[in-house]
Amino acid sequence: VPEGPEVETVRRTLHPQVLGRLVSKVWVSSKKLRTPVRSASFRRLLGRPITGTGRHGKLLWLDMAGAGGVLIRLGMTGRVLIQPSTSPRPPHTHVVMTFDEGADELRYVDPRRFGEVVPFSSDDELGEVRANMGPDPLAWTAEERRRVLTSLRSTQRTLKDALLDQRLLSGVGNIYASEALFVARISPTTRGCDASSPALRRLLQAVEHVLTQAVVHRGTTFADFVDASGGEGQNLAHLQVFWREGEPCTRCQRPVERMVQGARSTFYCRACQR
Ligand SMILES: [Zn+2]
Repeated sequence: VPEGPEVETVRRTLHPQVLGRLVSKVWVSSKKLRTPVRSASFRRLLGRPITGTGRHGKLLWLDMAGAGGVLIRLGMTGRVLIQPSTSPRPPHTHVVMTFDEGADELRYVDPRRFGEVVPFSSDDELGEVRANMGPDPLAWTAEERRRVLTSLRSTQRTLKDALLDQRLLSGVGNIYASEALFVARISPTTRGCDASSPALRRLLQAVEHVLTQAVVHRGTTFADFVDASGGEGQNLAHLQVFWREGEPCTRCQRPVERMVQGARSTFYCRACQR
């Protein structure tokens, strides 16, 4: 499942390929994504240039010169690909935006259809969507970071659950929550209200670190994730606990363990994370 670093990797590979290009044609499949795709809502994009790309947490968007743009959520298996218009469309292609002279096109491919592609009409509309999202550790201000620290300090939830709450902070999913707790040497079952302030500061530093490193390595690919040019991420080799159950801890050599929290797996080292 793409998390903040994977979506940022898509954005970075997408940006140079779409900047300044005019959308000349939009095609949508008849299949419902996370929300129904209304082809009429795409009509207003026609003939407009893409003037930028943006990202907040797992939310990606294309900007169209102050006239709104397109929101893209990758869900579990979504891919945004720039491919020649003459190449066969991959199975499960649900939205196609053709550019300029029509030599290549943006294709949204999503086998499980938990993602979505939705035009928006103004910066205000985008702002409303972002207002419901917590700050992004890849881009947050010192003030936003302090606010998150305060929320963590007062929550009754486990730190693992809190990190996954996109209203609290944006872009951390199951992979990077496990990794950050390991780097910070904090047990995943620790509740926010029981953690010390130094431990919570260490945790937020670890969150920034694991997300930043994952962007450097162009994201983590287990099965589905590729960037907008079809390239796989290289971060899998750099994960220290995630999906490494039974393998030796990189710090103490004891086997990494797995537990289930809220129906999702957490990977951790019992000895290093207390
Ligand atoms: Zn260990």
